[in-house]
Amino acid sequence: MKKHNFSAGPCILPGEVMQQAAQAVQELDGSGLSLIEISHRSAAFIEIMDKACELALELLGLNGKGYKALFLHGGASTQFLATAYNLLENMGAYLNTGTWSTKAIKEAKLLGKVVEVASSADANFNYIPKEYSIPADADYLHITTNNTIFGTQVKTLPEIDTVLVSDSSSDIFSRQLDFSKFGILYAGAQKNMGPAGTTLVVVKEDVLGKVTRCIPSMLDYSLHCSKDSMFNTPPVFAVYSSMLTLDWLQKNGGIKAIEAKNNTKAELMYGEIDRNPLFQGFAAVEDRSTMNATFTLEKVELKERFDSMCEDALICGINGHRSVGGYRASMYNALPLTSVQTLVDVMKEFERTA
Ligand SMILES: *Cc1c(COP(=O)(O)O)cnc(C)c1O
Repeated sequence: MKKHNFSAGPCILPGEVMQQAAQAVQELDGSGLSLIEISHRSAAFIEIMDKACELALELLGLNGKGYKALFLHGGASTQFLATAYNLLENMGAYLNTGTWSTKAIKEAKLLGKVVEVASSADANFNYIPKEYSIPADADYLHITTNNTIFGTQVKTLPEIDTVLVSDSSSDIFSRQLDFSKFGILYAGAQKNMGPAGTTLVVVKEDVLGKVTRCIPSMLDYSLHCSKDSMFNTPPVFAVYSSMLTLDWLQKNGGIKAIEAKNNTKAELMYGEIDRNPLFQGFAAVEDRSTMNATFTLEKVELKERFDSMCEDALICGINGHRSVGGYRASMYNALPLTSVQTLVDVMKEFERTA
């Protein structure tokens, strides 16, 4: 039986993507070879990479706007360093909204001056700071559009004069935004796009080439752009699976259609969290993430009973991160509404039998 997978990442992917990806490992499109044993320089793989990049830009509405999509190695965590390597000359400005932003700041500090324009650390990152100013000589502002651990999400992009950089690992392709406001947008695949192993980096080419430092090849976005993500052997399985997910997304109406579904799931989930006296939402209401709903139990002594009810209903992956405690229901694109309904039903039953 397929479980209701609320895991924060790696996370649920569309069933048909899993099937096609598994099939391609056996044999890629009748080629007599497996996806993972063909040359990445073969026409068949180049076509896969090109399609993945094209779909990414198309879904984000960035085709023909001077952007390049890259599929790189090293996870979002490597981009914490790479973004600074490629952009930081005078100063990097950072909005600190949680664990991942904090890590991005730490990496950038290895290279130069960093200013934290605002932080919500004072309230265990349960909200998104909105009033802040950016130093005039900052080369860029780095934000985290969705804070996977704390369950908060930037709803309105800041209006700024410098380059906007975002770690969008956990909400890429989940909602409509004006993506042309970003200079660089990156996301580890394993939250909303594919298996772990590749990271999508969408970069506006004219933000590159402005720093005076030497950039190591593997961190050099200009080099990766010039080689179409083929400077070294790409993670072929992760790229192929991501391509399939993006194709699935496009065939199902793109970001607009999935956003409507995500909103329905989030409304159902938060509606129950707010209604049910046994639970308490963690994030500030106006900043609640549509991807990761964080909540705690009013009476911790009831935890064992709730956990066992969830297990009986085949619900998995809802344990909260240790920095928040309680529960976290991640509702990525591929999670069906029926899974959320199942969790909500269990919460209701839990209340009824408490
Ligand atoms: C999961 C996550 C990361 C870490 O990604 P890796 O690919 O494991 O390096 C970074 N940022 C955010 C917002 C995440 O959710």
